Amino acid sequence: MSLVSGPGRAVGSQADQTLCVPKHVEYIKNLDSRRDELEYWLTEHLRLNGVYWGLTALHLLASPEALPRAETIDFVLSCQHENGGFGAAPGHDAHLLYTVSAVQILVTLDAVDELEKRGLGGKQKVANYIAGLQDQATGSFKGDEWGELDTRFLYGAFNALSLLGLLDLVDVAKAVAYIQKCENLDGAYGVCPGAESHAGQVFTCVGALAIAGRLDLVDKDRLGGWLSERQLDNGGLNGRPEKLQDACYSWWVGASLAMIDRLHWIDGDKLAAYLLRCQDPAAGGFGDRPGNMVDVFHTHFAIAGLSLLKFEGVEEVDPIYCMPRAITMKTLHK
Ligand SMILES: [Zn+2]
Repeated sequence: MSLVSGPGRAVGSQADQTLCVPKHVEYIKNLDSRRDELEYWLTEHLRLNGVYWGLTALHLLASPEALPRAETIDFVLSCQHENGGFGAAPGHDAHLLYTVSAVQILVTLDAVDELEKRGLGGKQKVANYIAGLQDQATGSFKGDEWGELDTRFLYGAFNALSLLGLLDLVDVAKAVAYIQKCENLDGAYGVCPGAESHAGQVFTCVGALAIAGRLDLVDKDRLGGWLSERQLDNGGLNGRPEKLQDACYSWWVGASLAMIDRLHWIDGDKLAAYLLRCQDPAAGGFGDRPGNMVDVFHTHFAIAGLSLLKFEGVEEVDPIYCMPRAITMKTLHK
């Protein structure tokens, strides 16, 4: 395949087809200084996830120091609950998805030991909170004590527990069997058994199988075919048939293809050119589609997508964990 990286290799022919790294770094750094803006308060429920997206994007842009380390760790710890889990922001209820973000941030900052020093019960308590969300009957996971089962939660639990070195707290075999039940005839996966195939769910199911060391269970050619059909003529990717393209699907689809060694089944040059059209070259950040408002979620996943494509100037991402490869290699001793 023709990848977009390599010295002297430009993507597309237009002058605006460059990655505006300093603008994106500034955009992410300034997110937290915009507390007077309505958007900040509307997204309070996403705060801890937002820190994970911003921090990871900055690492991939080779600017790991752009967010203050000590304040970031303080904020993460301030979101922890007595039950060991983490909420979106201080005073919010604990939820699996925020707990995963907390673990990913602490691992990225090499600060897991802060859980032992200043956290409420150390990493074992965090892991016990996550493990307690496994549904004993099905092997899948809930997002919180009241929630429904969703393969997003199963993946998140595997992600965080494996980063903490405590995946053996849960019944991995039972969870793997549940994922197999979510596989459809097209080779892709849905949110629960019998549900329509969706690229976001493909990422979570394949990612969980990768962490469990069971990618042998994936029908790679069939799934690769379904995933590669997600690319549209404009180069962008959609999440399921008949839907519009969206920059974040460069991650859900691209990382899934990378995990099953089929990333070369899509046109990487066209995808990279699409993603670059989604950036705001003046103010920084990426939107879901060209000309749309930017946000930290799409900024993170667009940059991670460019990383999968080995775009020049972007650090390597781990397609299983959506974290810098150098950090997961060190943490997991891969
Ligand atoms: Zn999106």
